[in-house]
Amino acid sequence: MTKPVPSDAFVFFGASGDLAHKMIFPALYRMVQRNALNVPVIGVASSPWTVQQLADRARDGIEQFGGGVNDEEAFQRLVTLLGYVDGDYTDKATYAALVKALHGAQRPANYLAIPPSLFPTVVEGLGSSGIAAHARVIVEKPFGRDLQSAEELNQVLHSVFPEPSIFRIDHFLGKETIQNILYFRFANSFLEPIWNRNNVRQVQITMAENFGVRGRGKLYEEVGALRDVVQNHLLQVTALLAMEPPVGPSVDELRDAKEKVFFAIDTLDRHDLVRGQFDGYRNEDGVDPNSDVETYAAARFHIDSWRWADVPFYIRAGKNLPITCTEVRVELHRPPQRVFAEYEELPRDTNYFRFRVDPQLQIALGARAKTPGEAFKGHLVELGLADDQPDEMTPYERLLGDAMAGENLQFAREDGVEAAWRVVDRVLTDHDTAIPYKPQTWGPPQAEGLIRDADGWHDPVL
Ligand code: NDP
Repeated sequence: MTKPVPSDAFVFFGASGDLAHKMIFPALYRMVQRNALNVPVIGVASSPWTVQQLADRARDGIEQFGGGVNDEEAFQRLVTLLGYVDGDYTDKATYAALVKALHGAQRPANYLAIPPSLFPTVVEGLGSSGIAAHARVIVEKPFGRDLQSAEELNQVLHSVFPEPSIFRIDHFLGKETIQNILYFRFANSFLEPIWNRNNVRQVQITMAENFGVRGRGKLYEEVGALRDVVQNHLLQVTALLAMEPPVGPSVDELRDAKEKVFFAIDTLDRHDLVRGQFDGYRNEDGVDPNSDVETYAAARFHIDSWRWADVPFYIRAGKNLPITCTEVRVELHRPPQRVFAEYEELPRDTNYFRFRVDPQLQIALGARAKTPGEAFKGHLVELGLADDQPDEMTPYERLLGDAMAGENLQFAREDGVEAAWRVVDRVLTDHDTAIPYKPQTWGPPQAEGLIRDADGWHDPVL
């Protein structure tokens, strides 16, 4: 396979915005530090800034959100790469000025760090100005608000860019720990014989955050937990856990395998879902005092395939829970026979695999071992298979680098995005009212009702 040609410039729309400040500048700085970025970097926004103002904003973002400028020489190299075009995205002159600022670069990677309502305008501008001809486009989540708007967004993008030139950023997919789920599953042969309905009794995925909406209530009102993390992050993790082995190593073969998982999940209905809202959310700035937006969502579903039929998958995500941690538990059936008297007292999940995805990578196997003494009584032990600190490279650094290199493994494909929207599409509007829960608890107690057996949710412990 021929290697994709790297981008020869990086253009970011929304250069004066919040995402650029918090994420893009720190990522670009670190890329320069690693000598992974040496092409022009051009910001585009409507504020009438000079390049020096853009550089000041970059420094501020790196100081506040990127651990500080500890390598002045690298920062100055970034400054020499910077350019800035000010203008309205609806104005043709903005794109003409961008063409000039590109100084003949033919293959820019264009990052749309802008409100989604502006995507069609900017994509059209890139198309009609000729900038798009050999370019890439990088799109931030959310990819639509539901299935229909995702399809419309994809049509807009495809009107100018072919699918291989479109990079849909889900920073979760750029996490080293997420990539490890895929690696662990298919780089080991001991797992495959037991990774199915004969041995797995249930799967639980928890994404807990111990903070609220951090002053971004207005934005969160448009989203809620289902759109913010369930449709994308948690379903992506589900796909990695449940997919069949890809038929080959190519990106499309991997994406094909993941997507089949979504197609095997029935569209959720209101009985499969518990929505919650933490007490105090309605007092946040920008939040409707009668808001029904969920800050917590728990769902139950099945994957209707030969491998997974009848195995319940439970996923939940919430804000203002007791800890910040994302964890997967794949629980195996307990032994079928009562060899020991303690059998009735045994938890049902005597054996499990645990994947911690955040705050650090952990992979562990839960098992029982005999407690010293005369009686045949045991206790739980965990065999740690991996316990690593987060990667040096931040997700944005990895993803921007990959997009500029044309590597699309860690990005979402059109049909995969739409298939994941289909899973949640109905419950986005057809649902029960969000149930209040106290901050720093594990969400509304009604979520326990989703779990079929008596063991309930397994709350991660840090
Ligand atoms: P902001 O509102 O902070 O920034 C919007 C940017 O777009 C500004 O640079 C603004 O320029 C520019 N802009 C808006 N309208 C025009 C126009 N007509 N012509 C020219 N420039 C214009 O948004 P965010 O940075 O917060 O978010 C950007 C995208 O990233 C959104 O899609 C959001 O959902 C997504 N996102 C954001 C995250 C975050 O943490 N902020 C996290 C994950 C995703 P100016 O101010 O100069 O007018």
